[in-house]
This record gives sequence, structure tokens and C-alpha cells, in this order.
Amino acid sequence: MMFSPVHRFRDIERKPEYLHPEKCIPPPRPGSLGTMWFIRDGCGIACAVITWLLVIYADFVVLFVMLIPSRNYIYSAINGVVFNSLAFLALASHFRAMLTDPGAVPKGNATKEFIESLQLKPGQVVYKCPKCCSIKPDRAHHCSVCKRCIRKMDHHCPWVNNCVGENNQKYFVLFTMYIALISLHALIMVGFHFLYCFEEDWTECSSFAPPTTVILLILLCFEALLFLIFTSVMFGTQVHSICTDETGIERLKNEDPTWERTVSWEGMKAAFGGDFSLNWFNPFSTVANKTDVALAAVASGTASGSREGCSEGCSQDLDESEEVKS
Ligand SMILES: [Zn+2]
Ligand SMILES: [Zn+2]
Repeated sequence: MMFSPVHRFRDIERKPEYLHPEKCIPPPRPGSLGTMWFIRDGCGIACAVITWLLVIYADFVVLFVMLIPSRNYIYSAINGVVFNSLAFLALASHFRAMLTDPGAVPKGNATKEFIESLQLKPGQVVYKCPKCCSIKPDRAHHCSVCKRCIRKMDHHCPWVNNCVGENNQKYFVLFTMYIALISLHALIMVGFHFLYCFEEDWTECSSFAPPTTVILLILLCFEALLFLIFTSVMFGTQVHSICTDETGIERLKNEDPTWERTVSWEGMKAAFGGDFSLNWFNPFSTVANKTDVALAAVASGTASGSREGCSEGCSQDLDESEEVKS
């Protein structure tokens, strides 16, 4: 899922024309913000469709090769309900991760009026993204696929065809967790099926011919093992990121934190929306959108911080790779 975000560190060029805020187009009218978030990226859409097809394939093999032909009805019923519930939650999390605005900074808000309205004090620095012409809040990064600056961008994940950022990280974490769980569940069921079928007559074990059954099961095994490793590593990395309050990009860049870390449990509460409850595992519960808070912080100048190194009325681009001391 990490498609080397390293190349994006240098996506901000020092071009003189960007230093003039009057070149920025005015921000879009508030009405257009209500439209659905969906990234039109061919590679991302293909990866998202492949994800659904892989889940559908696993469900097909689990149901029609293993559970329905089995004569142990209680075993089939319990496993069928558990597997399908987890698969449903995985797909729901996938849709929420894909269709939720990850925390995009309003495009083109770096207008002269807006910068003046910030009433920057001498020595205060704001960052402007030359690509989407927006004032970047602290910890926001520009994503070249989404073509937007994303607050607390972790990485762009083609499998969910979206950036993983402040507002959709919960759904992404749930997606990796549920995929890991269905993979593990499928592996256990395949294990039991092989044990059971080596003792029994193969023709009694599956409604498919033995070679077809074996091929379908081996493919499922391979898929489940691959995704169990992939998603559990991703899940661990994400939870670690949340608990240490450091995004994937910040970790790769080895940035000195300029923000006040909200560590461990507080970080989890912030990412999952409130105190620990079953809602943490519910992809349908909505995490409070932090957009308004963040914008208010930018407008009052707090999010941009009062860093040293820039003179009055500053709207300069700073290369992202430049080190900024707090
Ligand atoms: Zn940008
Ligand atoms: Zn992106």
C-alpha cells in the first residue's frame, strides 16, 4: 500500500510566480464542498475493483466449496455467518475509506485576501502549496494523485483509491483489520477442510471435482496468506502511527515533531472518535470531521505556528524538505 511516497517530498518547487498570491484562483464556493469525494485515478480504481473481486472470490470458495457441501450444518452455519459478517464489514470499511474526504485543504485559498485576513505577526510563517494554491496547515502534505493537500497525510493507498489522512484513517485501519481477520478465518477453515477431506472420500467433501476443489482451495490459501501478512503488518504500522502520533510521511522524513504529540490512548481516541466503545469497530459510525476546527486554527494563525525564519507578510513557499526548527 505504500507506493514510495518519498518522491512527493520534493513536490514543491521554488518558482517565483507562486510567491504572488494574486495568481491564485479564488476558493470554490462553499456549495461545491458538499459533493462526494472520489478520486478519478485509473490505477486506484482498478486496484479497488481487484480488492472487491478478491473478497468475492474468497467468499465464493468458502461458501460453495467448503461450507455448503459440508454435512456438519452447525459448523457451516456458524462459520458462514462469521465469515460473511467480517467480509461485509471489510467491504463497508473499504467504501468508507475510499469515499471519505481524507482531510483535503480547500483548493486555491491562498488568495491575497485570505493571507491578509490571517493577520500574521512578524516572524510568523505560513506554508503555501504551489500545486493547489492553498495555505497548508501544519502536517499537511500535497498528494500528487489526489492533486490536493491532505491534512496529516499518511500515504496514498491505491487499494482504497484514496489518501489515508486525518478523516479516514479509522476506516483504513478497520479495513486492514477486517481483511486480516477474514484471511485468518479462511486459512483456518481451509486447514480443517484438508484434514477432514483426507480422511473422507473427496467426492463427499465438495460439489466440485477433486482437482478443481484442490486448485480453488490452494488459490484461496495463497490469497489468504498473502493478505494476512500484508494487512496485519499494515494494521500494526497504522496503530503504531496513531499511538505515536506520527504519520508515515513524517516517520520516513524523520521529522522533528513541531506538533504536540497526542500519544497512545489519546491518539486512538482522536482517530477513532471518542472513548473506547463498539463504535470503534463500526465502519458506519462517523468520526467528527476536523475540517472546521483545522480551518479555524489556520484563520487564527495557530496551526501555522509562529516559527522563526521568515519576515513580515510572509506567504513564501518553503521547500518541504527544508528543515524547520520550532
Ligand atoms: Zn497541495
Ligand atoms: Zn492521495
